[in-house]
Amino acid sequence: MKQIQHDFIGQFGLLRDVAQNTKFPHHNTIEANTPFLIAAYKDYLRNKGNPWHVQHYGPTEPLSTAMAALYSSKIKQVAYIREIRKSHSGRCCSMCGSLTSTQVDHFLPQSHYPEFSIFKPNLFPICVCNQSKLGKTVGPAPGERFLHPLYDRKISDRAIYVRIRDHGDTPTFEVMFKKPKRVRDSAAFDFHTKTLVSKEGIKQHVKRGFEKFCRRPSSVVTALRRKNPESKAELVRLLCDEIEEATREHRTKNNWESVFLHALLERRTLNWIWRALSRPGRAVNGPLVAL
Ligand SMILES: [Zn+2]
Repeated sequence: MKQIQHDFIGQFGLLRDVAQNTKFPHHNTIEANTPFLIAAYKDYLRNKGNPWHVQHYGPTEPLSTAMAALYSSKIKQVAYIREIRKSHSGRCCSMCGSLTSTQVDHFLPQSHYPEFSIFKPNLFPICVCNQSKLGKTVGPAPGERFLHPLYDRKISDRAIYVRIRDHGDTPTFEVMFKKPKRVRDSAAFDFHTKTLVSKEGIKQHVKRGFEKFCRRPSSVVTALRRKNPESKAELVRLLCDEIEEATREHRTKNNWESVFLHALLERRTLNWIWRALSRPGRAVNGPLVAL
């Protein structure tokens, strides 16, 4: 869950350039359909990609084939698609916040909306949660849809929380989604988180992070390498610095690293960490639990 600021100026002109590009085998089909595609693009922009409102035109078979070919072609006019994939590879997924984005998602799926196959406002970096999305656009109840990374404002506000319990023995991890106040659409938020954001994936990420932190605190909070914090308030400050860094790097509070670090700030977890760090006889940067 991450708001993405796409620069998509020139998308209409690009269609005209493709229509003139004789190296692309379907250029005539694109030329014949340019007015249709521009009308569809304008409808998408007007309705902010909302599948409840964007018209479903159902393009002809030749146009669907041409758009699929254009999406995977190497002509320079669509080089920005490869760039989206490349520049976000291994980084934060715009849909779920994992740190393993590898693919490009068609927000309105290519299978149902081939007319938007190369339309930049419809393309976002995504991870394997794409498998849960596939051809889906809306849910069964009114208003249920996925959050749009370009148009749903404030989806980078903190929405994913984890509570850690039984810290020292066999820790448990509970994942919760809470709609940020500034995200307006509750039906979309609930459907999106329920369908796309893997509680199990988050749990595993936080579990690994917590184990690492317990073995060697500085592997998570660098400042703990040389000295223990002098007060609980200082520990909070150090954790907040790490959270801020993760949020700055991934440009969303819902990246899973920030979710993990934020879980360490929760009152009972923080108290447990503080007691473990202050245990008499524990070496600086030594393990928090007996290994
Ligand atoms: Zn994802």
